[in-house]
Amino acid sequence: MDNEFETGTLAVRAGIRRSQFNEHAEALYLSSSFVFDSAAQAAARFSGEEGGFIYSRFSNPTVDMLQERLAALEGAEACIATASGMAAILATVMALMKAGEHIVAAQSIFGATQQLFGGILAKFGIDTTFVASVDATAFRAALRPQTKLLFIETPSNPLTEVFDIAALAQVAREGGVLLVVDNCFCTPVLQRPLDLGADLVIHSATKYLDGQGRVLGGAVCGRAVLVDEVFRFLRTAGPSLSPFNAWVILKGLETLPIRMQAQSAAALELARWLEAQPQVLRVHYPGLPSHPQHALAMRQQKAGGAIVSFEVKGGREQAWQVVDATRLISITANLGDTKTTLTHPASTTHGRISAAARAAAGIGENLLRLAVGLEAVADLKEDLKRGLARL
Ligand SMILES: *Cc1c(COP(=O)(O)O)cnc(C)c1O
Repeated sequence: MDNEFETGTLAVRAGIRRSQFNEHAEALYLSSSFVFDSAAQAAARFSGEEGGFIYSRFSNPTVDMLQERLAALEGAEACIATASGMAAILATVMALMKAGEHIVAAQSIFGATQQLFGGILAKFGIDTTFVASVDATAFRAALRPQTKLLFIETPSNPLTEVFDIAALAQVAREGGVLLVVDNCFCTPVLQRPLDLGADLVIHSATKYLDGQGRVLGGAVCGRAVLVDEVFRFLRTAGPSLSPFNAWVILKGLETLPIRMQAQSAAALELARWLEAQPQVLRVHYPGLPSHPQHALAMRQQKAGGAIVSFEVKGGREQAWQVVDATRLISITANLGDTKTTLTHPASTTHGRISAAARAAAGIGENLLRLAVGLEAVADLKEDLKRGLARL
């Protein structure tokens, strides 16, 4: 169901498989294992001669439905679901790399991904070079003969820097390495990295794919030969997605297109409004013409997304005042929810990196990150205005 339907249709319909009861909604198959008709069938299933379910660490009908729907949305040949976004990243590296090989990653990636690459994988002989630039030539310069993966997130967190996926895909092709894109912020509704030449797309389904803050989940999408390697790691090592979580995310996907459109439109309105507030120094949002890569973002993405970062006049004290004056917006580090969230990155998500590294990355004490949800924009403005008015 990949090419003949539009995104909105795929989000609701792709991947549905019905049981003998012909249920209308996607069924939740809470079963850890599956029975066989005979000893011969069991043997055929285990040897791979016959398709079908064996054990839910390998595959499960509900998880399969999610995988098929997400693959259709990303325009991918295959998709494998994982227990979390981090499990998707770990499984990709473990499946496709070995000791002695090398990763080139953007400096501005999710904190846990940074720690996985820079800390944990280093113990197993996999080195990472972090590139502190959005420039494709800087990534080309970091490639080594041992490089296997080029890893980016676009737009980045929290400054919404935009990386040119097509240009980096070209660098990856020339260098004989794989381009992996964490598509968490845009989702396939706003950006399809595989269409632009990326080899694999990673998701934290915990964020917009569920979209309502209920479950953890992740996924890897791309060519079947690559995804199959990840599947083989997963079925052996175990960070597979639970059928219950898969079912929740599957139902979340049904509203993903309308949520992304609505949350992006609200984010653009708030970004414009914030830019006009005298207490705000600067707004970081790819949908604003003032964003340094606005043209690239508008070429690569269907909209600016729902993350808006802004710098208030002053420092930590002033930023915290805005946070503490909210009555509606949730003070939490999570994002991708229908409920708007507000974070002070320097003291939370990016609190563990040194002040010097933070300053170099442009994450000041006066920076706040807003993940815009589905509340009325007028109410969100009122909630932010209260704190801003005190500055
Ligand atoms: C949250 C997040 C992850 C990790 O996902 P989990 O589901 O929390 O493991 C990876 N990448 C990005 C961009 C994220 O925001």
